[in-house]
Amino acid sequence: MSVSPYFHPEMETLSRSGIEALQSERLRATVRHCMNSPFYKKRFAECGLTPDDIRTPADLYKIPFTTKQDLRDTYPFGIASVPLEKCVRLHSSSGTTGNPTVVLHSARDLDQWAEAVARCLWMVGCRPDDVFQNSSGYGMFTGGLGFQYGAERLGMLTVPAGAGNTLRQIKFFTDFGTTVVHAIPSYAGRLYEVMCQNGIDPRRDTKLRTLVIGAEPHSEDTRRRIEDMLGVKAYNSFGMSEMCGPGVAFECPEQNGMHIWEDYYIVEIVDPDTLEPVPDGEVGELVLTTINREAMPLLRYRTRDLTRILPGDCPCGRAHKRLDRMKGRSDDMIILKGVNIFPIQIETVLMKYQELASDYLITLESHEDNDMMRVEVEFKEEYLDDYARLQNLERDITRRLRDEILVTPLVRLVPKGTLPVSEGKAVRVKDLRKQY
Ligand code: ADP
Ligand code: ZN
Repeated sequence: MSVSPYFHPEMETLSRSGIEALQSERLRATVRHCMNSPFYKKRFAECGLTPDDIRTPADLYKIPFTTKQDLRDTYPFGIASVPLEKCVRLHSSSGTTGNPTVVLHSARDLDQWAEAVARCLWMVGCRPDDVFQNSSGYGMFTGGLGFQYGAERLGMLTVPAGAGNTLRQIKFFTDFGTTVVHAIPSYAGRLYEVMCQNGIDPRRDTKLRTLVIGAEPHSEDTRRRIEDMLGVKAYNSFGMSEMCGPGVAFECPEQNGMHIWEDYYIVEIVDPDTLEPVPDGEVGELVLTTINREAMPLLRYRTRDLTRILPGDCPCGRAHKRLDRMKGRSDDMIILKGVNIFPIQIETVLMKYQELASDYLITLESHEDNDMMRVEVEFKEEYLDDYARLQNLERDITRRLRDEILVTPLVRLVPKGTLPVSEGKAVRVKDLRKQY
């Protein structure tokens, strides 16, 4: 068995100048290929652009952004750069924020996607003798098939457990000797809870070693909690349907930012209002150009995800840029009393309290024409009778949240099991405000 830390040494050990040369070459080929897409052909004509105008990533600014609305307007097949008979699969975004969109894949695209996911998993120490269990929903959600094919490509025994049915998931852990699990962060806590209820100690009774967590924003404290509960190392995984799915950016063993694979994507971070580039290190909207896709390449796709490029070199030696953990999507931003708030800011405060469990719900309400925020958060079972402590805690959390988000929320600690659980991505915000 190979002992190399790299799945694709030739790509993972590229220097900055190597990455840039490869990007220019692949970008030129992508832009030429995009002229087979009715959408891009028209776009380029409208702007008086020809493929020859785009030589290196520095020329990208000349191309207009592609947006989710463009995908909707051309639904279902209008952006594709190949005829439909060359496509072998389609995925549709889970539609968290509106109408679905379609992404088409050729056989080559699926092959390259599996390679990218295998590269990510190898990077965090997965090897063919591991047993990989995927607790993602299958079907249209790309976390299912995306990890399935990637884990198989690496050579692991892969268990397509699918979402939910927690008792069965846990039985598979013990029966099959699962060592690696892919789960959304909000589900990892649930797995632990049900293990405890059934007298299973993850450290003693399972071989779990690695968790891959992604698909929704989560704080550093949430990650540490998951690691402590399950006795694993948990790695952040970022992807989206429009970019294939998982495998876009992934943490290395340093657990400090997610390397975005620059042989697949060109990264830009722009100010979401002015759409001008922001310097490395500043938060803005992630914009991605695919340079290794056949069926449906996307040029300057506005992801609406807010993050920043981490400055400096990664001690792991990979020169591929690192994205900071996602702050959320621009559409997740709450505007309350004129203040901009991201749910992750609230989670970051809550998860510092060891008395609290992992589930919380933010509700925005109107009371007599006054908008307010209610934050309900579950506390751990052992504090059920400690009324005085819970009261103090509510006060303390209110103060800390006010310092963080600049409005005073109504904080309520509720017993475990009170808040609704969702099967897929967690719903953290309910907006019941009057619409004026
Ligand atoms: P939908 O857009 O309907 O949710 P996707 O499954 O394509 O469907 O979700 C992709 C989105 O999920 C990303 O754009 C991002 O907002 C979020 N996401 C994915 N991975 C992460 C992650 N590791 N951290 C935070 N958010 C993530
Ligand atoms: Zn690294």
